[in-house]
Amino acid sequence: MLKIETPLEQIKGITPKFLLKLKKLEINTVRDLLWHFPSRYEDFSQVCKIGDLSSGEQVTVCGTIESIDIRHSFRRRMVIIEASIADETGNVKAVWFNQPYLRNILRPGRYAHFAGKVSVSDDEIFLSNPTYELVQNLGEFDEEPTDTKHTARLVPIYPETKGLTSKGLRYFISPILKETRCEEFFPENVLIKYGLPEINTAINNIHFPENIDDALLARKRFIFENLFLLQLSNLRQKLLLQKERTHSVPTDSTFLDLCLSRLPFELTDSQKRSLKEVLEDIARSMPMNRLLQGDVGSGKTIVAALAAMQAAKQGLQIAFLAPTEILARQHFNTLKKFFAHCETSIGLLSSSGAHLFYGENLESETPKAAFLKEVAQNKLKIVVGTHSLIQKNVDFCNLGLVIIDEQHRFGVDQRASLLRRKNTNKPSADSHIPHLLSMSATPIPRTLMLTIFGDLDISMIDEVPKGRKPVITKVVLPQNRRTAYGFVKGELKKGRQAFVVCPRIEVPDNEDDAAALEIKAVKQEYEKLSKKIFPEFKVAMLHGKMKPQEKKAIMKEFSDGSAQILVSTSVIEVGVDIPNASIMLIEGAERFGLAQLYQFRGRIGRGTHQSFCILFTESAADQTQARLKALIEAKNGFELAEQDLNLRGPGEFIGRKQTGTPDILMNSLQDMQVIRESREAAMLVMEKDQELSSLPLLREKLNIFKKKIHLE
Ligand code: ADP
Ligand code: MG
Repeated sequence: MLKIETPLEQIKGITPKFLLKLKKLEINTVRDLLWHFPSRYEDFSQVCKIGDLSSGEQVTVCGTIESIDIRHSFRRRMVIIEASIADETGNVKAVWFNQPYLRNILRPGRYAHFAGKVSVSDDEIFLSNPTYELVQNLGEFDEEPTDTKHTARLVPIYPETKGLTSKGLRYFISPILKETRCEEFFPENVLIKYGLPEINTAINNIHFPENIDDALLARKRFIFENLFLLQLSNLRQKLLLQKERTHSVPTDSTFLDLCLSRLPFELTDSQKRSLKEVLEDIARSMPMNRLLQGDVGSGKTIVAALAAMQAAKQGLQIAFLAPTEILARQHFNTLKKFFAHCETSIGLLSSSGAHLFYGENLESETPKAAFLKEVAQNKLKIVVGTHSLIQKNVDFCNLGLVIIDEQHRFGVDQRASLLRRKNTNKPSADSHIPHLLSMSATPIPRTLMLTIFGDLDISMIDEVPKGRKPVITKVVLPQNRRTAYGFVKGELKKGRQAFVVCPRIEVPDNEDDAAALEIKAVKQEYEKLSKKIFPEFKVAMLHGKMKPQEKKAIMKEFSDGSAQILVSTSVIEVGVDIPNASIMLIEGAERFGLAQLYQFRGRIGRGTHQSFCILFTESAADQTQARLKALIEAKNGFELAEQDLNLRGPGEFIGRKQTGTPDILMNSLQDMQVIRESREAAMLVMEKDQELSSLPLLREKLNIFKKKIHLE
């Protein structure tokens, strides 16, 4: 018996050449090889007597080779091998191209199976390029040939790889399968409840199934496995976190009411509900791990900020992380604007400098070292910044709450490291870990959400503040571009501002790809708009390659209204808040994902003016039109998410970029039913045995799984 950890080198019969090819695919052990799954199956299960063949069928023929000849076709420079195969009902020709070595294998007199398509030429039936398999002729009693790898059955076809043929893989996989026993890690009741095949059956049936139903069940098992482990890992993570200690922040209602009364607006009902959930969480001595979800513009920031003020009031420190410098500054400004009366110290740490704010307009620029000292000594309570805040040289003294905006932009590990962040600077062994509040506007349907972020509790803001008019969205084809520009001009004259988003910064020199040439480059677009189309307005330009100082200056120009048009790449994708901007013009709209387009559109419609989103597209393809139509019709991000899910499937819809989810898992997210079942199964298992102590194999498997998703 082979163990699944056995290196393939130790197995007799695998040639060094083949080993090398396998290595290139990172197939090193028995496990790797057996877990290299076929992408589909060829059905050669119909075994046919030669006398019964008819053209067009896909069959397996069993017979003796009568003769074999080689011919050269000079015109087409091909070697043609022609064999005659006979059984007791007749004979048939088989033809192969460019495989001269077959002459040495398929010698006259040998018995073999031939599987392929029955073709016809000049009224004569023949087998075209059949797969052959030399087998023992057991005589006429052996009606049903068994135990074959390449013929007379469903035959696995593996993903195409240079130099590694499906036939070659089958040749090795088949005997290794027979000699390997895998250990089952699923509890039996789960297998039974969800009708899943046991591991050895599954691994056999995924390679060499008797019928397609068996193959599908095997596949389901492996998909189920991944999702089950993911959810189990999430649930365990959640339980582990609940055992940690944290600083409890009891709500100071008087202070809360004061803060609320100073806001220039009333919170929406869903903001109130979310805030209540957050405040209840942080009042506990168990760390919060909550995701605040809501459409762009739904007002997540203020909910987070109110929680931050409560924590600061208790003497705790708050790290407020934004994905970009621009957003960090914006959050800093929001805090200053709404909470100046609280006299809470607020700091902004950005690559362009450190700023301190001590209530009622006392803002000062501070050297970074001094700033960090303030943080370390707990003099600074709320610290706003980007990733730089997670860097090692920022030591908090009494970190009680971490807020992460647009959390999907931070890696899973970054999140984890933040969560585990102890207050290093405290002399006494402070084992408290901070509460964590993440925010996201990425609309992911709830089921997927629970799967991917199953370790989080979720709050949802599902309405936008009252008084906002829905954005009018229009798809504009090239012939109507002028009209659209005319319309934009009218709005600018009324005092509004416009965003223009382009898919790329500049066209590379060696660009010969016609499609890529269509991509509007920000720089070119800027030239065109500022000189030709809108010469009477001030146009500004923003892209990812600019220095932070430059970006800041440009953003200021746009936000104070001295520039009317801002041409940019997708760097403005997240969170920028400019209520006077009422036009969002998107070039090459078909190049962006729906979720991204949705984010862009969320930049406008934030003020009282009617806003317009104009999607320029060169593509009239149905798929593009359907997607853009979905964007127009969706009432909110979550509805859009469902539609995108239908149009593109879950794998496409939530890429690693958006969720930090490793690719191996993305492939498993294809089937809602399995997602639901695996979640239910994970909860069943955890209910019975949190520590998994009665399921050591599962525990081990889970550890391996966790390592794997961390390595990716
Ligand atoms: P997002 O959820 O996209 O992060 P923001 O928090 O940036 O949204 O809020 C968008 C804008 O709406 C901000 O200018 C904010 O001050 C404002 N806002 C938030 N809540 C309300 C409300 N209840 N009523 C009116 N305006 C609000
Ligand atoms: Mg935001």
